[in-house]
Amino acid sequence: MNTIFADLQTSIFEEMSVLARHFKAINLGQGFPDDPGPEDVRRKAADAVISGWNQYPPMLGLPELRQAVARHYAVHQGLTIDPAAEVMITSGATEAISGALLALVNAGDEVVLFEPSYDAYLPLVRRAGGVPRFVKLAPPDWRFTAAQLAAAITPRTKVVLLNNPQNPSGAVYGRDELQLIADAIKDTPAVVVADEVWEHVIFDGRAHTSVLAIPGLRERAVKIGSAGKIFCLTGWKVGFVVAAAPLLKVLAKAHQFITFTTPPNLQTAVAYGLDKPATHFEAMRADLQDKRDHLAQGLRAAGLSVLATEGTYFLNVDLAPLGLTDDAAFCRRLVTEAGVAAIPVSAFYADASMRSVIRFCFAKHDATLDEAVKRIAVAAPRLSR
Ligand code: GLN
Repeated sequence: MNTIFADLQTSIFEEMSVLARHFKAINLGQGFPDDPGPEDVRRKAADAVISGWNQYPPMLGLPELRQAVARHYAVHQGLTIDPAAEVMITSGATEAISGALLALVNAGDEVVLFEPSYDAYLPLVRRAGGVPRFVKLAPPDWRFTAAQLAAAITPRTKVVLLNNPQNPSGAVYGRDELQLIADAIKDTPAVVVADEVWEHVIFDGRAHTSVLAIPGLRERAVKIGSAGKIFCLTGWKVGFVVAAAPLLKVLAKAHQFITFTTPPNLQTAVAYGLDKPATHFEAMRADLQDKRDHLAQGLRAAGLSVLATEGTYFLNVDLAPLGLTDDAAFCRRLVTEAGVAAIPVSAFYADASMRSVIRFCFAKHDATLDEAVKRIAVAAPRLSR
């Protein structure tokens, strides 16, 4: 057996969801909305299953979807993208990330990761033969500096793998911080692989800046997006890869032997959805921002120290002010004794050096959030002893 996967634990999301089902807990762990998602987009998919094409679509994705991706990013992010040469559709962003690592990394190449780092990244980097180098981020604001980048980036850096907006921290990195990365890799062969799946889920009037919008990165960056996050349909697993043509050509070689294609009917529906008016995306953001504030207020009232969230479905609580330093133990007790599932953020650090932060998903109906807060408020005094 391959030791990287044989030694790997089940993902923290799966583990907490299993516990949540077992203890009939409210699941604010794994990030998925409890809403069915936009009905018109789902109907489009249903129609396409019955009346559309159900055989292999083109390997790079349906032309109509690739065109819609280019249009969408032109309208929402001001990017100029050639749909024929610079866009590929994958079966979700995780496939896109794993394909990018397989396509870009040779054994022994260094890959820079920002910790907390989404759980899939590190095993995929290692399996691709990469040697991880970490930039460690910390609460309350999870920012990074030029000095941290300089310490992690070397002439052997092949990939800088960035998640922006960042899961689980909820941080959103802007133009200045992306420019720091561009400056730091200037004299290396590195490519920035940017997992931008949360690009539409940002709050307080922020605008997403893509890595492709940064001078010096347009030709050496891979932008990854996801219909699952854009339309709150997390099970759909339709991802988009955008990169300069010479890069995309190589990324496509990995994709053709991982999944080869992605269900054509879902692609048709996503193509339709991407052209929805800006008001649709603004309403989604406003709704999620209300939920963020609703949960934050409830958790604060329950005596918890809530950290700021700039984007994503997630809100973090710092347990340190309660004198607690074992987030995993706290989450286990929270799900078994209080009936609420959350995610310990130590799961996103290779050395579990950060052990006081837990993550809640707020993409739920208000009644669900209220019940969760009620349970937490009742249990908090006992759990913090
Ligand atoms: N992206 C989801 C989250 O962060 C998890 C998806 C999964 O379970 N692999 O919660």
